[in-house]
Amino acid sequence: SSQIADVPTPFSPLLKLNLPAPADYRKRKVALISGITGQDGSYLTELLLSKGYEVHGIIRRSSSFNTSRLHHLYEDQHERPNKFKLHYGDLSDSTNLVYIIAQVQPTEVYNLGAQSHVKVSFEMAEYTGDVDGLGTLRLLDAIRTCGLERHVRFYQASTSELYGQVVETPQSETTPFYPRSPYGVAKLYAFWITKNYREAYGMYACNGILFNHESPRRGRTFVTRKITRAAADISLGKQSCLYLGNLDAQRDWGHAADYVEGMWRMLQQDTPDDFVLATGETHPVREFVEKSFAILGMNIQWRGSGTEEEGVDARTGKVVVKVDSRYFRPAEVELLLGTPAKAEKVLGWKRKVDFDSLVKEMVEADLRAAKSLVEDQN
Ligand code: NDP
Ligand code: GDP
Repeated sequence: SSQIADVPTPFSPLLKLNLPAPADYRKRKVALISGITGQDGSYLTELLLSKGYEVHGIIRRSSSFNTSRLHHLYEDQHERPNKFKLHYGDLSDSTNLVYIIAQVQPTEVYNLGAQSHVKVSFEMAEYTGDVDGLGTLRLLDAIRTCGLERHVRFYQASTSELYGQVVETPQSETTPFYPRSPYGVAKLYAFWITKNYREAYGMYACNGILFNHESPRRGRTFVTRKITRAAADISLGKQSCLYLGNLDAQRDWGHAADYVEGMWRMLQQDTPDDFVLATGETHPVREFVEKSFAILGMNIQWRGSGTEEEGVDARTGKVVVKVDSRYFRPAEVELLLGTPAKAEKVLGWKRKVDFDSLVKEMVEADLRAAKSLVEDQN
């Protein structure tokens, strides 16, 4: 038993890479992004390329095309050879993560990869725990396995879903967590393992606790994008009705382009820390619906209540929105409202896009896309 007690901790790296001292290593600007094909991954890639970084991304093998959000950047590559590279990988595959880290030798790692849908996490709870929770551990350990824990700066995509049940508002870095979904619980593990590795191994590791952020590139099953696409299609007569769940949930919605700027800033400080990025405003889903339809000249009037509620276009008298209980969640996060005070003070971060401009940009983008599809079909 005395031999077991003698096992040295922390263990020395398994791979002995020939590395310069951390200060020299970081003179290069090399980023590795998991989740690069997602909404935030595409905006972050744009930002980092514009700052002169070499950007590497992890993509999943898929039988269908999953790089559409990066298409425009790939085309640009002819102008910037060797600045942007994609690697096949998965947060469930440790060996592959070690291999990618050893090969890329990044200076900054952004862990954005996740099964990111709250409702889906109730149906795929184990998978969500594996990828969103343990996946974060795998990436952190891949960095340690390569002996890079003092060389690499690490960003973890934490979330306002950690707050879940309302304990206090506005929610800040000191508000206690009470997650309300398998997604939130998995992200809670990721939050703490990131903080633990910072404390245990002196890693420069940060949690960005980001409130909901949207854009025309938002996944189509999240409520904002679902609404703006449907409003555009309904205005063109391509769809008759939009079916939604809880209209009274309130969210603090910002623009993804502003939020990736905050992620980058978190990794440029003297000491690592955790930060909330939020707008400081909250709006119900119902208001997002009303504003989206209003931009397209439809004035929504509500009638009925609960699962019988529906929204009527005042001009035509047609029902264009209906509540469908299939979209309710087994446990709901009713209200999210964050304060960005710490990020504003320490990082000098400020969001630029307000709520009305966000809705307008999304609706107009979906209208343009829907119109060009109609033209293609004609
Ligand atoms: P998306 O759902 O748009 O993107 C998720 C990304 O993760 C995609 O690139 C996806 O790949 C990838 N991914 C999924 N599963 C795996 C896996 N097993 N291994 C490797 N990669 C995987 O999310 P967002 O861009 O909106 O969000 C980015 C991160 O920020 C996520 O971690 C999300 O949970 C978190 N977050 C998001 C907020 C928001 O409001 N957007 C708020 C707070 C946190 P593929 O394209 O192949 O599916
Ligand atoms: P989340 O905050 O990460 O869960 O982001 P979503 O965009 O998926 O959901 C935001 C809120 O909208 C939640 O409170 C949902 O319950 C509510 N909501 C109402 N109807 C829908 C719907 O049809 N789809 C989704 N995704 N959310 C809905």
